[in-house]
Amino acid sequence: MPVQMPARTAVVAANWKMHKTVGETAAFLDRFLGGIEQLEGVELFICPPFPSLPAAVERCRRSRVLVAAQNMHAEPQGAFTGEVSAPMLTELGVDGVILGHSERRAMFAERDEDLAHKVPAALGAALTPILCIGETESERDADQTQAVLARQISTDLAEVADERLSEVVIAYEPVWAIGTGRNATPEQAAEAIAFIRSQLAARDERAGEAIRIIYGGSVKPGNAAELLSPETIDGALVGGASLQPGDFKEIALAAADSSASPAESSGSGAGGAAGSRS
Ligand code: PEP
Repeated sequence: MPVQMPARTAVVAANWKMHKTVGETAAFLDRFLGGIEQLEGVELFICPPFPSLPAAVERCRRSRVLVAAQNMHAEPQGAFTGEVSAPMLTELGVDGVILGHSERRAMFAERDEDLAHKVPAALGAALTPILCIGETESERDADQTQAVLARQISTDLAEVADERLSEVVIAYEPVWAIGTGRNATPEQAAEAIAFIRSQLAARDERAGEAIRIIYGGSVKPGNAAELLSPETIDGALVGGASLQPGDFKEIALAAADSSASPAESSGSGAGGAAGSRS
C-alpha cells in the first residue's frame, strides 16, 4: 500500500548566536511582531541567548512566533557548571532548541555522541530539536560530504524512536557557508537535502517524507527567494541576517512565498497565503 505523503510546514529560525541583550531582544520583537500576518503558514523561531529567553517568551506569547534556545545539556540536572537543561527551558515556556551547531562542534568540542543524548532529551521535554549538520570545506573538497552527513544523521538520531523522528527539524548547514557570505547554491543545498532525506527514508519511510529539512548558511534577503525555491528545501536557519527585523521578515516572506502553491503565491516575495510543502 502506498505511504500517504504528509504535508510539511515551512520553518524559518533566527539564530542570534551571542547577540542582543534583554532590552535589544524586546526592541527587536516589538518591531518584528507587528505585521507578520503575511507569514501565516510559516513556523517561525527566534533563538536568542539564554538571558533573553524569558523576555522573548513573554513578548511572543500572544503571537505565533516560537522561541528556541541555542544549546542545552542532555542531563536534566547535575554538576555541569555553566550548562542548562531541557526541563529548565521547558519551565520558561521555550518551544525548541538548536543542537549541534557547527560553532558548538568546532569551538566547544561538541561531538555526535553528545548529540545522540541531547536530541532525545529535547524531545522528551517537548522541545523541538533543530539539529544542525553539515560538512566543512575540506570535507567537501575531499568528496566526503555524503559520508559526513550519513555519520551525523545516524549517530545524532540513533536514540530517537522512529515514530518521533519527524518531530526533529534538521538544518543542513555547510560549515563553509556559515557567516562567510558565501552561500551554497540552491542545487548544492537541494542535493545535500535530498541525500539527508533518503538516509532518513531508508530508516523509516514515513519519517523520511515528513521530517522538515531546512538550509542554513549566509541566507540574506537578496538570496532567500532563490535559495528557498527548490520544493525540497523546507525553510532556513538564519544567522547574521536575522538580527535586523526587516531582513528577517523578508527572508520569512520568501519562505512563505515559496511554500505557497502556485495559485496562492504572490510571485513577488511580498505576501501571498503560505501553505504546506508536500
Ligand atoms: C547560522 O549560524 O546558523 C547561520 C546560518 O549563520 P549565517 O546565516 O550568518 O551564515
